[in-house]
Amino acid sequence: MLMLNHSSYSPRAGESSNTSNPRIQIGEFEVVVITDSLGPFPFPASRIFPTVSEAEWEEMRQRYPSAFSAPQVLMAHVSCCLIRSSERTILLDTGTGLPDAPASGLQGDLLRQIELEGVNPDHIDTVVLSHFDGDHVGGTIRGEGLHAKPIFPNARHIVSGLDWEICVERPASAGSTRFKTNQVAPLDAWKMLTLAREEMELATGIRVIPTPGHTPGHVGVWIESQSKSMLLAADAFYHPLQVPEPSHAVLLDMDPLAASSTRRELLDLVEAKGDYMWACHFPLPGIGRLIRDEHTRYWKPLNIA
Ligand SMILES: [Zn+2]
Repeated sequence: MLMLNHSSYSPRAGESSNTSNPRIQIGEFEVVVITDSLGPFPFPASRIFPTVSEAEWEEMRQRYPSAFSAPQVLMAHVSCCLIRSSERTILLDTGTGLPDAPASGLQGDLLRQIELEGVNPDHIDTVVLSHFDGDHVGGTIRGEGLHAKPIFPNARHIVSGLDWEICVERPASAGSTRFKTNQVAPLDAWKMLTLAREEMELATGIRVIPTPGHTPGHVGVWIESQSKSMLLAADAFYHPLQVPEPSHAVLLDMDPLAASSTRRELLDLVEAKGDYMWACHFPLPGIGRLIRDEHTRYWKPLNIA
């Protein structure tokens, strides 16, 4: 059963809002966190993070109560980011899929939510797909085969060249599924695809950056504008517990060692230069800052005073 609940976030002074979607202004860019789906994971947290001790879980329950639906069960929060400036409308990830065609098994609310933000799918000029998991590419294409149509028809779609090779050019390889392939493969024929093989500037102040490990070609987005900055980490981080201990791999990390070294590098970057950090599956509001408690770094959500 899909549950949507935005009530745990209240915009603070300076964070204006027409909807309850969390948002933050980073220089000339507004970043809006769009919840696509929210509900309990169908299996225990210890299966998703096998290396986390009970003492660590207890600390996480204290720090992030809304990240749990029961003491041993995590909430599966799937969010995407809408990034707007006076000239650009960019979407990072497309969620789980359309409500009328939930091919991923989940019902996505992304389209309804961006329309509440006043954004028609035609307005999106760029879609960045962080990687090809079903909860990140599910809302890219409507229909299959001859009936396939792009959901964001005017957007250039940016995906990692490495993940493209794994999922589309070598569809028998590990990590590929028919659903993932269907959600991205037609973009090439439609000439709507750009393969990112290294850092790529989308506009002054916003870059697609390689963040490998969760998948070999996983990408995030770095925004730096008017002395403010923000990391959009997508699934480079899966839960805030990976901030104090980046070596905790999520079961789905394809290369756990690369993923943990990426996490350490990103944390150093955010701590040195960044104001804010978002990850797709972090609890609402999804946006937070890094703080230090003694010698340990934690992610602090914006709505905690
Ligand atoms: Zn994910």
